[in-house]
Amino acid sequence: MKKTDRKVRVIGGGLAGVEAARFLSDRGLLVELFEMRPVRSTPAHKTGLLGELVCSNSLKGTDPQTAHGLLKKEISRLNSLVLRAARETSVPAGKALAVDRESFAAAITREIESDERIQVVRREVCEIDPHTPTIVATGPLTSDALAARLADMLGSERLFFYDAVSPIVDGQSIDMSRAFFGSRWEEGSTDYLNCPLERDEYDRFVRALLEADRVQAHAFEDARFFDACLPVEVIAGRGSESLRYGPMRPVGMVDPSSGRRPYAVLQLRRENLKGDAYNMVGFQTRLTYPEQKRIFSLIPALSRAVFHRYGSIHRNTYFDSPRVLNRDLSLKGYPRIFLAGQLTGVEGYVESASTGIYAAIGLLSGLRGRDLPVPPADTALGALIQYITEPREDRLQPSNINFGIMEAPVNIPKKRRKEIRLEREAMSFENWCHSLSGLI
Ligand SMILES: Cc1cc2nc3c(=O)[nH]c(=O)nc-3n(C[C@H](O)[C@H](O)[C@H](O)COP(=O)(O)OP(=O)(O)OC[C@H]3O[C@@H](n4cnc5c(N)ncnc54)[C@H](O)[C@@H]3O)c2cc1C
Repeated sequence: MKKTDRKVRVIGGGLAGVEAARFLSDRGLLVELFEMRPVRSTPAHKTGLLGELVCSNSLKGTDPQTAHGLLKKEISRLNSLVLRAARETSVPAGKALAVDRESFAAAITREIESDERIQVVRREVCEIDPHTPTIVATGPLTSDALAARLADMLGSERLFFYDAVSPIVDGQSIDMSRAFFGSRWEEGSTDYLNCPLERDEYDRFVRALLEADRVQAHAFEDARFFDACLPVEVIAGRGSESLRYGPMRPVGMVDPSSGRRPYAVLQLRRENLKGDAYNMVGFQTRLTYPEQKRIFSLIPALSRAVFHRYGSIHRNTYFDSPRVLNRDLSLKGYPRIFLAGQLTGVEGYVESASTGIYAAIGLLSGLRGRDLPVPPADTALGALIQYITEPREDRLQPSNINFGIMEAPVNIPKKRRKEIRLEREAMSFENWCHSLSGLI
């Protein structure tokens, strides 16, 4: 490693940025960590503290039998600063890891500010020097000037400012007696799983959708974004038939059980190759999570649906990562610049923190002239990295960690599936850590 390369930059002192800074400093690098608060704030942050949580004080579940728990276990193994601070400042919250938010951010700030290899610089960064090894972790509310600079570097069509997420359903929970495979005008194709509704079922569904509770928009969220990507409940509000002419249109479909075109159809698209998780096509929504479960269960095929992820629409700056990032999270065309955190298309506090550590490992590998082995997709970290970097035809929809994106063992009886999944995850993650010897 060249002497000049011992100096690196991290932009953004949020959850991803502090992890990256700490990881690199622990490996002997000198880190300049740029944070614009409190000089300049975002519409959601309230303090000048590093690692501030902008909304909920919960970092979600810790049970290692869940995807969230596995991700926590993995980044604890990588000595996550965020999780250490969370455990030190936790408050009782059942199986979830919830924190006293002030103490949490104060603990992180103390640890970073007292680190003699990290210099915290309080100013807004508006430029990126492509020659200095840098991790950009400025989050969902990246300042306008920096977002514009990144858009210049990567193409404005690769940068999104709102995040419209459709729910993901567990494939095994779908009532297949009320669903059929086929693409529009193409019977027999297995690309889509179609969930038909009779007229009375559709009418009941639309009525319930219109009355359901919605999440209130934040003051800084611009109502105009709805025109680009309308929530289903807004489409439904434009007229009782509008969903049937929109995401639930039945044209080109024949339900094999009745031999005729259904009155309306929800299409589900495979979320993974195995086909055990499905995305509800065009069903971005601002309904609250409990309401999504209640209302979407009125679609007959989803009457007992288990949701891996609920839908949402909110302000979120993020990149079309499969098109702009390499597997180590460096930018295509800018090998010394890395992205981390929510900007990469992951969703959630712990997911953001995880990519901070991973981008730091990527940057360090590059400086040491080593190729970074990618964590296998049967680990939680590997699944997240695969999700945001694997080429895809459609636009990236940000995702949290969930079993739907993790590679699952095949040909295993259902009752042993979870046990085998957990065994493989543990083995794969340990092997990956060994493959990084000398780096972590
Ligand atoms: C309103 C809102 C609510 C959310 N609620 C939740 C929730 O309840 N649970 C959950 O799991 N996730 C939530 N998220 C999503 C996400 O997980 C968090 O935003 C998370 O903090 C992202 O981590 P990050 O490190 O990528 O960004 P952040 O934690 O936001 O850190 C980015 C940092 O970069 C700084 N910065 C921005 N631009 C510049 C610049 N040009 N120069 C220098 N510094 C800059 C910011 O001040 C900030 O400190 C929410 C997001 C938003 C926007």
